[in-house]
Amino acid sequence: MTSAQTAHSTCDIAVIGAGQAALQTIASLVTGGFDGTVTLIGDEPFLPYQRPPLSKKFLNGAFERDRLFLKPDSFYTDKAINIMLNTQVTEMDAAAKFLTCANDATLAFSKAVICTGSRPRALPISGSDLENIFDLRTIADIEAMRPHFKPGAKMVVVGGGYIGLETAASARQLGVDVTVVEAAERVLERVTKPELSKFFHQLHLDEGVEIITSAQVSGFTGETHVSGVTLNTGAAVPADLVVLGIGIVPNTELAEAAGLSVDDGIVVDALGRTSHGDIYAAGDCTNHPNDLLGRRLRLESVPNAIDQGKAVASDILGAPVEYAAIPWFWSDQYETKLQIAGLSDTADSLNLRGSYESGSFAIFHFAGTQLVCVEAVNRPAEFMAARQLIKEAAGGRVYEADMLVDETIKPKSWLG
Ligand code: NAP
Repeated sequence: MTSAQTAHSTCDIAVIGAGQAALQTIASLVTGGFDGTVTLIGDEPFLPYQRPPLSKKFLNGAFERDRLFLKPDSFYTDKAINIMLNTQVTEMDAAAKFLTCANDATLAFSKAVICTGSRPRALPISGSDLENIFDLRTIADIEAMRPHFKPGAKMVVVGGGYIGLETAASARQLGVDVTVVEAAERVLERVTKPELSKFFHQLHLDEGVEIITSAQVSGFTGETHVSGVTLNTGAAVPADLVVLGIGIVPNTELAEAAGLSVDDGIVVDALGRTSHGDIYAAGDCTNHPNDLLGRRLRLESVPNAIDQGKAVASDILGAPVEYAAIPWFWSDQYETKLQIAGLSDTADSLNLRGSYESGSFAIFHFAGTQLVCVEAVNRPAEFMAARQLIKEAAGGRVYEADMLVDETIKPKSWLG
C-alpha cells in the first residue's frame, strides 16, 4: 500500500466503497480524462479486489493474494487518487454534501458515488458465536478459514447457492469432507431452473459431497469451537468448521439515512443517478431499471457492477451512456464451467442442446416465443452467441428452438 491513508477534507468525487463498481467508476473517470480530485473510501484494509476467486482459486490455493487486486498500487498513485482504507463512512449529509467516518475523518464532496455493495446475511441462532464458523465475503474471511481446510476435516456449508457450492468444490479439491445444508427443495434455487439444480446436485454427489435439502440449520453445538450443526429436522451433523453462504443483504443504510430513495436497493436511474442530483450509486446495492428486460431489478453480479460504474462515470464526464445490458453470471465448480445469460424467472419452456449425461450442454429458456435465458455448461460458444440472441430477442426478434439445439449448426452461425 503506497497511497497515503489520510483523511482529505474536500474532493470533487467521493467514491464510497472499494469494490468492483467503485474501481470501475474511477477507472472510467480516469480513462475519460477527468481531471478533478477523486477520493476512494473503503472499510477493508485492501485496495479494490476481485471477489469471484475468493470461493474458488484463492480458497483452494491456486491464487496468491496479490493476484486478486484489480489494479496495482501504482494506478492510484499515478492518477493521484486519494485513498482512505480501514475507513467506514457512518453518515452522509446529502444537503451539505459531507461525509463523516467512524475514525472521525470527514470529507466534503461535490459529487458522491455510493458503491457500498452487500454483506452476508446473518444467522442469529444458538451457537453462532462459536469459533470456526465463517462468512465468505472478504479476503480476511478466506485467510481465516483456509488453515482449517485440511484433508479429513468435516465441514458443513450452510446454503446451497453459488457460495455454498463453489466452497464445497474447493474444499473437496483439498480433501475436506463436505455436507451442504440447503433450506430450499433444491440447490441453486434462487438463480436457476430445476434441471440445472439437478445437474449440479449430482455433480457434487459424484465428488463425494453430502447434500441435505429442505432443512434449516437451527443451532450450532460446541464448547469454544463448533463441533456440530443441528437441523430443524432433528438431525445432527458433526462439523470441525462451518461456512455460511445464505445470501446477502444490500448495504443501503447510509443512503437511506441520508434521505435517498431506497426500495430493495438504492433507487437509481439508468445512469446510476439517485434521488439526489449530485449523488450516484452503482453495483450490488442498487435497484435499477433495465430497458431490455422492461423492469427494475437488483443484481448481485460483477458484470452489473462494471456496467453501472461505466454509466455513472459517463454521466459525470458529461457524455452519458445509459446502462442496459442482459445480465450474465458464471460459476466454476470442479472442472465444470457454468455460464448464464439472461434471467429465467419468466420462462415457461426449455430446449436442450447436448445432454446432461455428457456434462456439456446448453439449456435455452423461452417465455412464450421469446428466448430469455441460456444456461450453458462447458459450452462457451453457445453462451457467447446466445447472449447476443437474448438481447436481440428482447428487441422482438424470434428464434426457432430447432436451430439452437441442432448440433450440426455452429453457434456463431446463429448470429447475423
Ligand atoms: P444465494 O444465492 O442467495 O444462496 C443462498 C442459499 O442459502 C439460498 O438457496 C437460501 O435459501 C439458502 N439459505 C438461506 N438461509 C438458510 C438456512 N438457514 N439454512 C440453509 N440454507 C439457507 O447466496 P450465496 O450463495 O450466499 O451468495 C452470496 C452472493 O454472492 C450472491 O449475491 C451471489 O450471487 C454471489 N456470488 C456469486 C457467485 C457467482 O456468480 N459465481 C459466486 C459466489 C457468490 P432461501 O432462498 O430459501 O433462503
